[in-house]
Amino acid sequence: MGVGGKLVSIVAPFYNESEGVWIFYEALRAMASTVPDVRFEFICVDDGSRDDTLVHLLAANRLDPRFVVVELSRNFGKEAALTAGIDTACGDAVVPIDADLQDPPTLIPKMIEEWRKGAEVVLARRTDRSTDTFLKRKTAEGFYRLHNKLSTVAIPANVGDFRLMDKVVVAALKRLPERQRFMKGLFAWVGFKAVTVDYARQPRAAGKTKFSGWKLWNFALEGITSFSTAPLKVWTYVGTICALLTLTYAAYIVIRTLIYGIDVPGYASVLVAILFFGSLQLISIGLLGEYIGRMYLESKQRPTYLVRKCHRQGTE
Ligand code: UDP
Ligand code: MG
Repeated sequence: MGVGGKLVSIVAPFYNESEGVWIFYEALRAMASTVPDVRFEFICVDDGSRDDTLVHLLAANRLDPRFVVVELSRNFGKEAALTAGIDTACGDAVVPIDADLQDPPTLIPKMIEEWRKGAEVVLARRTDRSTDTFLKRKTAEGFYRLHNKLSTVAIPANVGDFRLMDKVVVAALKRLPERQRFMKGLFAWVGFKAVTVDYARQPRAAGKTKFSGWKLWNFALEGITSFSTAPLKVWTYVGTICALLTLTYAAYIVIRTLIYGIDVPGYASVLVAILFFGSLQLISIGLLGEYIGRMYLESKQRPTYLVRKCHRQGTE
């Protein structure tokens, strides 16, 4: 053992989750009482909610000062909110968790157990995602497969942000300076000794998902461009192959013209070639744009998030 009295920080981002605050409050308090030899702090980050999530969170903080409320100045997105929470956490271990209880808090004691046995990272793997829609499961699966093919650091499949990290891992995470934080990728990048525990993905306790298809698509782009330059490099090869094919076709046309004479009709082939190569160039320029846009954002060095106020110990 020897970890008795250690502090574990649970970090949850809240965006328009007012219906879920008290369910979260009760579930985490119940979980904490099952691990009496560990102290807890619950870092609740209000990511610029437009409903009364913040009011409820502050009430929770007054009732139980273990609930720390970090108030962001506006909605910065889940990744930024998570970063804010991790930066605020003082625990010997940090556990990011979704506020909607899709990640079951009842798994946390098991994660702490593994941590006590010496794991630096305890990954929670969803073995059953039947509560997610078919489309979400399939697109997620496709994304992980593509990402891991292109990137040098593989993101373990079916593992989200829900995990336990020892403070050495958290310290490593804080050393990564990028502003656009694709947390799943950053978590994987830092490495360390990991063990896995399994769980079944729960349905949302209350409220609706905050991620539309378009948001998820951009999230996937962020993930791939943050950890791979393969989409930039592929154009060299696409270009080479096209050039070779074009040369072959050119040779064919020259020979045919020499043998059969000048052949005027060729409208279709010319148009197809122009449209094809035009589109190819637009796609490759668009991809360059994805990377340049990200370089531009990084180069401005703006902070990832801004805190209006951090409420600890029931302070107002
Ligand atoms: N979230 C956030 N900021 C946002 C969007 C979401 O902090 O801009 C939080 C949200 O409150 C929840 C977590 O991120 O605690 C996961 O969001 P959600 O459940 O909507 O995503 P899903 O589980 O459907 O992927
Ligand atoms: Mg959710």
